[in-house]
Amino acid sequence: MAEGRTYQGKCFCGDVALIVTGEPVAMGYCHCSSCREWSAGPVNAFSLWKPEAVRIAKGADKIASYAKTKQSVRKWCKTCGGHLLTEHPLLGLTDVYAATIPSLAFKPGVHVHYQESVLKLRDGLPKQKDVPKEMGGSGEILAE
Ligand SMILES: [Zn+2]
Ligand SMILES: [Zn+2]
Repeated sequence: MAEGRTYQGKCFCGDVALIVTGEPVAMGYCHCSSCREWSAGPVNAFSLWKPEAVRIAKGADKIASYAKTKQSVRKWCKTCGGHLLTEHPLLGLTDVYAATIPSLAFKPGVHVHYQESVLKLRDGLPKQKDVPKEMGGSGEILAE
Protein backbone atom coordinates (compact mmCIF):
# COMPACT_ATOMS: atom_id res chain seq x y z
CA MET A 1 0.00 0.00 0.00
CA ALA A 2 2.40 2.72 1.18
CA GLU A 3 4.25 3.07 -2.12
CA GLY A 4 6.62 5.87 -2.89
CA ARG A 5 10.06 6.97 -2.02
CA THR A 6 11.54 6.17 1.35
CA TYR A 7 13.48 8.24 3.84
CA GLN A 8 15.92 6.71 6.30
CA GLY A 9 16.07 8.07 9.78
CA LYS A 10 18.02 7.30 12.90
CA CYS A 11 18.64 8.46 16.42
CA PHE A 12 21.79 10.29 17.51
CA CYS A 13 23.76 7.07 18.21
CA GLY A 14 22.24 4.90 15.49
CA ASP A 15 20.85 2.16 17.75
CA VAL A 16 17.37 3.00 16.46
CA ALA A 17 16.66 3.29 12.74
CA LEU A 18 13.39 4.02 11.01
CA ILE A 19 12.06 4.22 7.49
CA VAL A 20 9.33 6.60 6.35
CA THR A 21 7.57 5.97 3.04
CA GLY A 22 5.69 8.32 0.74
CA GLU A 23 5.16 12.01 1.31
CA PRO A 24 4.30 13.82 4.53
CA VAL A 25 0.76 15.06 5.16
CA ALA A 26 2.18 18.39 6.35
CA MET A 27 5.43 20.04 7.37
CA GLY A 28 6.06 23.07 9.53
CA TYR A 29 7.14 24.42 12.86
CA CYS A 30 5.54 23.91 16.27
CA HIS A 31 6.11 26.59 18.89
CA CYS A 32 4.12 25.02 21.75
CA SER A 33 5.58 24.93 25.25
CA SER A 34 5.39 21.11 25.35
CA CYS A 35 7.62 20.76 22.29
CA ARG A 36 9.99 23.42 23.63
CA GLU A 37 10.27 22.04 27.14
CA TRP A 38 10.68 18.45 26.01
CA SER A 39 13.18 19.16 23.23
CA ALA A 40 15.02 21.93 25.08
CA GLY A 41 14.84 23.86 21.81
CA PRO A 42 12.94 27.02 20.86
CA VAL A 43 10.90 25.40 18.10
CA ASN A 44 10.14 21.92 16.70
CA ALA A 45 10.43 21.33 12.95
CA PHE A 46 7.83 18.64 12.26
CA SER A 47 6.79 16.39 9.41
CA LEU A 48 3.44 14.65 9.85
CA TRP A 49 2.77 11.19 8.41
CA LYS A 50 0.08 8.56 8.51
CA PRO A 51 1.22 6.08 11.17
CA GLU A 52 1.45 3.26 8.60
CA ALA A 53 4.06 5.27 6.67
CA VAL A 54 6.49 5.01 9.60
CA ARG A 55 8.34 1.77 10.28
CA ILE A 56 10.96 1.06 12.93
CA ALA A 57 13.73 -0.76 11.06
CA LYS A 58 16.09 -1.39 13.97
CA GLY A 59 16.19 -1.10 17.75
CA ALA A 60 12.47 -1.09 18.60
CA ASP A 61 13.43 -2.43 22.05
CA LYS A 62 15.61 0.65 22.59
CA ILE A 63 12.71 3.08 22.24
CA ALA A 64 11.23 4.73 25.31
CA SER A 65 8.11 6.84 25.31
CA TYR A 66 6.35 9.40 27.45
CA ALA A 67 2.83 10.76 27.14
CA LYS A 68 2.12 13.82 29.27
CA THR A 69 -1.27 14.01 27.58
CA LYS A 70 -3.26 11.58 25.47
CA GLN A 71 -2.60 13.79 22.43
CA SER A 72 1.13 13.20 22.16
CA VAL A 73 3.28 10.14 22.77
CA ARG A 74 6.90 11.30 22.56
CA LYS A 75 9.56 8.72 21.69
CA TRP A 76 13.33 8.66 22.02
CA CYS A 77 16.31 6.31 22.06
CA LYS A 78 17.14 4.89 25.50
CA THR A 79 20.84 4.61 24.64
CA CYS A 80 21.60 8.16 23.49
CA GLY A 81 18.47 10.11 24.45
CA GLY A 82 18.08 11.26 20.85
CA HIS A 83 14.54 12.17 19.91
CA LEU A 84 12.76 10.21 17.19
CA LEU A 85 9.10 11.04 16.79
CA THR A 86 5.80 11.96 18.44
CA GLU A 87 2.66 9.92 17.87
CA HIS A 88 -0.60 11.89 17.83
CA PRO A 89 -3.13 9.06 18.26
CA LEU A 90 -6.19 11.34 18.42
CA LEU A 91 -5.22 12.95 15.11
CA GLY A 92 -4.11 9.68 13.53
CA LEU A 93 -0.75 11.23 12.61
CA THR A 94 2.89 10.73 13.55
CA ASP A 95 5.40 13.57 13.70
CA VAL A 96 8.80 12.36 12.57
CA TYR A 97 11.02 15.30 13.46
CA ALA A 98 12.51 16.82 10.35
CA ALA A 99 15.97 16.49 11.88
CA THR A 100 15.46 12.71 12.28
CA ILE A 101 15.08 12.20 8.50
CA PRO A 102 17.68 14.50 6.92
CA SER A 103 17.11 13.17 3.38
CA LEU A 104 13.59 14.60 3.40
CA ALA A 105 13.60 18.02 1.72
CA PHE A 106 12.02 20.04 4.50
CA LYS A 107 9.44 22.40 3.01
CA PRO A 108 7.59 24.03 5.90
CA GLY A 109 4.09 25.26 5.08
CA VAL A 110 2.83 26.54 8.41
CA HIS A 111 3.68 27.55 11.94
CA VAL A 112 1.43 26.17 14.71
CA HIS A 113 0.88 27.31 18.31
CA TYR A 114 2.50 30.62 17.39
CA GLN A 115 0.80 32.34 20.34
CA GLU A 116 3.30 30.42 22.53
CA SER A 117 6.37 31.29 20.46
CA VAL A 118 9.58 32.52 22.05
CA LEU A 119 11.52 32.62 18.78
CA LYS A 120 9.82 34.73 16.10
CA LEU A 121 10.45 33.45 12.59
CA ARG A 122 9.59 36.10 10.01
CA ASP A 123 9.55 33.86 6.97
CA GLY A 124 6.21 34.90 5.47
CA LEU A 125 4.52 31.57 6.23
CA PRO A 126 1.08 31.56 7.93
CA LYS A 127 1.26 31.72 11.74
CA GLN A 128 -1.56 29.68 13.26
CA LYS A 129 -2.49 30.99 16.71
CA ASP A 130 -3.01 27.33 17.74
CA VAL A 131 -3.72 24.78 15.02
CA PRO A 132 -5.76 24.75 11.79
CA LYS A 133 -9.53 24.24 11.98
CA GLU A 134 -9.27 20.84 10.31
CA MET A 135 -7.09 19.75 13.23
CA GLY A 136 -9.59 20.99 15.80
CA GLY A 137 -8.08 24.44 16.37
CA SER A 138 -9.28 28.01 15.95
CA GLY A 139 -7.69 28.45 12.54
CA GLU A 140 -6.86 31.99 13.60
CA ILE A 141 -3.81 33.53 11.91
CA LEU A 142 -1.51 35.81 13.91
CA ALA A 143 0.81 38.53 12.67
CA GLU A 144 4.47 37.57 12.49
ZN1 LIG B 1 20.39 6.34 20.03
ZN1 LIG C 1 4.33 21.36 19.83
